[in-house]
Amino acid sequence: MKRSENDPKGFPSRRDFIKSSATGAGAAAVAALVAVETPAQTRPTRWEHEADVVVVGAGATGLPAAIQAAEGGASVILVEANTDVGGHAILSGGNMALGGGTSRQKKYGVVDSPDILYSDLTDWSVVEPNGFPDYRYNDKEVIRAFADESASTYEWLVAHGVVFVDKAPDIAGGHACGNSAPREHHTAPMSWPVVQFGGPVAPEKASTSSLGVGLIRPLEAAAKKAGVQILLAHKMTGLVRENPNTGKVIGIAATHQGKPVNIRAKKGVILGTGGHSSNVNFRRIFDPRLTEEYQVAGEPYSFQDASGEIAAMTIGASLWGAYNQSGEFGQNVTKAGWIGCQYGYVNLSWQPDSPIFSQARATGLSVKDYHDAILVNMAGLRFYDETAGQFPANNYNFVKNYVPGSYRNAANIKYEPSNFLNAAMAGVPGDTHGGGGPIWAIFDSDAVKREGWTVVPPHVDTAQGFFFTADTIADLARKIVNQYQRRPMPPDALENTVARYNSFVDSGKDEDFGKASPKYKIQTPPFHAAWATPVIHDTRSGLRINAKCHVLDLNGNVIPGLYCGGETAGGFSMHGLARCTVQGRIAGRNAASDT
Ligand SMILES: Cc1cc2nc3c(=O)[nH]c(=O)nc-3n(C[C@H](O)[C@H](O)[C@H](O)COP(=O)(O)OP(=O)(O)OC[C@H]3O[C@@H](n4cnc5c(N)ncnc54)[C@H](O)[C@@H]3O)c2cc1C
Repeated sequence: MKRSENDPKGFPSRRDFIKSSATGAGAAAVAALVAVETPAQTRPTRWEHEADVVVVGAGATGLPAAIQAAEGGASVILVEANTDVGGHAILSGGNMALGGGTSRQKKYGVVDSPDILYSDLTDWSVVEPNGFPDYRYNDKEVIRAFADESASTYEWLVAHGVVFVDKAPDIAGGHACGNSAPREHHTAPMSWPVVQFGGPVAPEKASTSSLGVGLIRPLEAAAKKAGVQILLAHKMTGLVRENPNTGKVIGIAATHQGKPVNIRAKKGVILGTGGHSSNVNFRRIFDPRLTEEYQVAGEPYSFQDASGEIAAMTIGASLWGAYNQSGEFGQNVTKAGWIGCQYGYVNLSWQPDSPIFSQARATGLSVKDYHDAILVNMAGLRFYDETAGQFPANNYNFVKNYVPGSYRNAANIKYEPSNFLNAAMAGVPGDTHGGGGPIWAIFDSDAVKREGWTVVPPHVDTAQGFFFTADTIADLARKIVNQYQRRPMPPDALENTVARYNSFVDSGKDEDFGKASPKYKIQTPPFHAAWATPVIHDTRSGLRINAKCHVLDLNGNVIPGLYCGGETAGGFSMHGLARCTVQGRIAGRNAASDT
């Protein structure tokens, strides 16, 4: 491997290193997967398909949009890039923050109303323990529409076959969904096959656990029943407007099996493409640290490649609520929950029977006790207390003695910054690339025994460079070659880090990062390095929309015939499914009545 001349430590250049790594070709493949081209489309001479309303993306936004439009009397084509429906939503936990007075809230005596919900989600005074405000940058028009249609969306979902777990609304799985009432409703998986497991959940969990498949499969059935034509493996590549930058949106350009397909929309196009978290260049607009090493919850089943936003921006659409994307709350970025595999999102456990396990490649290892491992960056240096966790997230009753809109709320919030993730993304000395680079969990064979891990495939991904084993710490550092490791890990640095940590175990005090009473030395070979890099989750900013889910341009004017909702839309900092389904319904209803 060639040494770089301008690197004082004699590291090879990033290009040299990746070129020589066994997995460099993999990096190119990933880059190609999420590369997006959405050139401005000229009016085609031929339309292969035609409907009143064309919905793009068959996830949490697109399916409700398509059903609502079809039930509003429109003919509907639903275009989906993947070979199956569902997007992130089918993999989700099915925890839905619907409030404002749902029948289930009423049944269990929860006091809520559209006004309370609106007040909660626009309250400037509520901040997280790390000082970030959840709701201050929400768009009031967008939130008002959500608050007014949230409860009715719950009833609508029930009427369209979604079974909710029969229990009181709670806070499980929710964040940034308001302080005044518990709002999480949970969709039961019933007997639907779960993508990540490859089969249904155990019968005793069918109506008591919560999973997104219980939202998506009933809606898919309802869409088909309503006459929606679903075109799988059709990827939208651009929007067609009457003139490149003026006039109504009259259809989409797509590709199917490598061939172009033009689909005319007589009334409107609805974008439900699910945001931009998988598009490295797009996500770095909001947070330059989010370089390519960060994988995304939902991958490798579905990639949020920003194709909806980029297609709309190409014809003049505006972005909106950009602050919400980089605010550090909830699950914007998460600590890896599964280590030793590429896709380590904590709530997504890929199992060998999954139809896409060949892409996920490993189940990963779950860490019960972070006294069993240290976490180091690509320079082999520890960066924070390994036992530290997530960015915090507000939910029902998190602010005690809450008075809406009162500056006094801040007195009841104890400042507690959780900077684990910031430290992980801080980068290493001498690296100007942007993000923090890979994070590796380092542990020994004693830790493997204590945790009860099996450290061979399919539990860990050795083939693609997400798990390594060696008999010495120095050899372990030398072995770490991975498509995202921008420079080799210096063996002496990792040796020093481990020796220093072991001395903290002896003294009972972590003098560097304050880990409480470090328990176990890393001393018994073989030693292991497992990928433990943070994972990106939500897109919380996107296209500018109004209360009717019309997309607006940079002058604040409606782009006729173009609608959007869910993670592709901006102005709303809330995790997940609830805003997507509500906005999908709003967009579908309005598109159907468009002229
Ligand atoms: C593992 C996991 C767990 C989660 N758990 C929860 C939870 O418990 N509660 C919660 O509220 N939220 C949860 N979420 C978040 C929630 O699933 C998403 O916020 C929600 O699904 C987003 O809906 P959407 O319609 O915007 O996008 P998606 O549901 O992702 O749907 C977008 C669809 O558009 C398709 N698409 C994209 N581009 C194109 C194109 N150019 N042409 C055609 N089709 C295209 C995609 O393939 C995809 O099918 C979770 C997410 C994940 C990944």
